[in-house]
Amino acid sequence: MENGNKLTYDLIIIGAGPAGLTAGLYAARSRLNVLLVESKAPGGQLVNIDLLENYPGFPEGVSGMDLVQRLQDQAEKFGLEVAIEEVVSLRVDGEVKTIETSRRELKAKSVIVASGSVPRRLGVPGEDRFVGRGVSYCATCDGALYRDREVLVVGGGDSALTEALFLTRFARKVKIVHRRDKLRAVGVLQDRARANDRIEFRLESVVEEIRGEEQVKAVILRHVGTGKRTEENTDGIFIYIGANPATGFLPPEVQCEEDGYVVTGTNLETSVEGIFAAGDVRVTPLRQVATAVGDGAVAAMAAEEYLANLE
Ligand code: NAP
Repeated sequence: MENGNKLTYDLIIIGAGPAGLTAGLYAARSRLNVLLVESKAPGGQLVNIDLLENYPGFPEGVSGMDLVQRLQDQAEKFGLEVAIEEVVSLRVDGEVKTIETSRRELKAKSVIVASGSVPRRLGVPGEDRFVGRGVSYCATCDGALYRDREVLVVGGGDSALTEALFLTRFARKVKIVHRRDKLRAVGVLQDRARANDRIEFRLESVVEEIRGEEQVKAVILRHVGTGKRTEENTDGIFIYIGANPATGFLPPEVQCEEDGYVVTGTNLETSVEGIFAAGDVRVTPLRQVATAVGDGAVAAMAAEEYLANLE
């Protein structure tokens, strides 16, 4: 519904990862006047997953890109409109939610926040300087550049091990640097990584500095037990130490936990009526594509109910 420069929607979904696209599919299929706003290309972190092995229904696994395309095609088939523009702020004035994007101001009666999360940075000297020149947060994007080279992966979670295993397709040696003596990743990934003779572990170790000239050449590692520092040569460093929620545009009325994740109730409602949150951005015990998709469906249903009660 166009209203001068301002548009009024029943529902605006922020973020086109699996949670947002699923919410969009459900909302469009329910014939809501819905818009999905995404700052980059659709897919969220899913586009960085080479092969998803634990999404139900795909016994051979499915590539992240393929799944995104399928989700998007399915949602658009039911009429979902996707706009590529960045959300700058969200303001609440009673029932009216105003979303300022990089291009315009939009108004909606309800909002689903499905903005996901962004990779956490190590915050060590050299990290910013060498991004794109040896420092990467995406093995799927940059891994092939390291054929027959040596790389380091930082982190001990599912992402670090999944990506370390992926990198062994190219690199001759992958060293996993983890700050504790125990890995956080699920057992099957730990078993695979330990069985892979291209992978070595540097446990109880942290990266203190990334060094190089034009490109990364080495890192300084510190053993957290002994405090001993060593310089290790490497051609690249892939950082997988978790993520921070992408919530910079949210108003203070939307309650978040200390680490920034959005607090939600049973129907994924937030502390503000008419605003819901779905997927990685919210406080949840599990952040997977399967859970994000479930969240998207619940949030869309809850938004629909909220809208019905407004009328
Ligand atoms: P994560 O589970 O939060 O793990 C982050 C890892 O980085 C942890 O090992 C943590 O160490 C370490 N870390 C955090 N801050 C650090 C710092 N400042 N310096 C050094 N190390 C640091 O994150 P994730 O691996 O990205 O996974 C996120 C979610 O996605 C999880 O729910 C995961 O299950 C899911 N995921 C699933 C799959 C899969 O199913 N195949 C693949 C990827 C991700 P500590 O262990 O000491 O805390």
